[in-house]
Amino acid sequence: MKTILIAGGAGFIGSSLSKVLLEQGNKVICVDNLYTGSIDNIKGLMHHENFQFINHDIIEPLDLNIDEIYNLACPASPVHYQKDPLYTIHISYMGTYQLLELAKKKRATFLMASTSEVYGDPHVHPQKEDYWGNVNPIGPRACYDEGKRISETLTINYNLTHKVKTKIVRIFNTYGHNMDKEDGRVVSNFIVQALKGDSITIYGDGSQTRSFCHVNDMVKGLISMMESDDDVTGPINLGNPVEYTIKEIANIILSKTHSQSKIDFLPLPQDDPIKRKPDISKAKLELSWEPTISLDEGLNNTISYFKKILDGKITEGK
Ligand code: UDP
Repeated sequence: MKTILIAGGAGFIGSSLSKVLLEQGNKVICVDNLYTGSIDNIKGLMHHENFQFINHDIIEPLDLNIDEIYNLACPASPVHYQKDPLYTIHISYMGTYQLLELAKKKRATFLMASTSEVYGDPHVHPQKEDYWGNVNPIGPRACYDEGKRISETLTINYNLTHKVKTKIVRIFNTYGHNMDKEDGRVVSNFIVQALKGDSITIYGDGSQTRSFCHVNDMVKGLISMMESDDDVTGPINLGNPVEYTIKEIANIILSKTHSQSKIDFLPLPQDDPIKRKPDISKAKLELSWEPTISLDEGLNNTISYFKKILDGKITEGK
């Protein structure tokens, strides 16, 4: 049995990861300050004898005996990470620093959940790990994009300087259960709007693309990375390489929900990436991982989840 710290364990991906790691027989310590995470996401785990929740901001030091650390603690939706950009920058640097210090002290393996946003508005398509990206360092997305870039830099330098076992993954757009209905990201917005009969808000003309990975596939990818050999340090892209335009996503969700919602075209936010699709050959080769859940199946599950949330049959996320 391993003792695993999940920073951001009450968040969208962290809560699903916590559940799977518990089911595998590990002890899970979930550390979250509930900035965007929610107790509702981990309510079902709270009474598990091997689960512990600590309400803590990782900007402050921690001292726990652990074997592995997953750092998923950061607001990840543009709406949330832009609300307090200085906090986003601070948690990306100082939070990662504190966890790396802990990993060093306890000789734990550290996994950094980075992002496809390190590629910015990419000039290379699909994105491979050796592409360095196109990020506007003073734009509205920079707090997150540059924040995650410095998290990656810190992580690799703890590996090189202090020989900490580190791993970096770059997470592409992910969707599924435990997404906050107020998350502000495209899949949750469109499903909630369609189910409520509200207008679907497409930013720009909807020709921009994204590639969507179901959270259950993502969790498997994260665990495979953590369990990989010590020389597999990444960065490795984790995402589903099937690419859709945002307009296609709107139409798929409208048809699946049998919704009469109309579409509103709103201004495209500044620096919104035009195209995004992961090249996952490295993940296939080094982790033997690739997604198995189609958008069709994943959206069906996610729509039922949000239906239950909206009907009050399960407690909504934060
Ligand atoms: N988007 C949209 N309507 C929404 C939310 C998002 O058209 O209500 C667009 C957004 O402009 C972007 C894409 O959908 O082009 C994905 O946005 P999201 O915030 O989900 O994630 P991002 O990949 O931008 O971090």
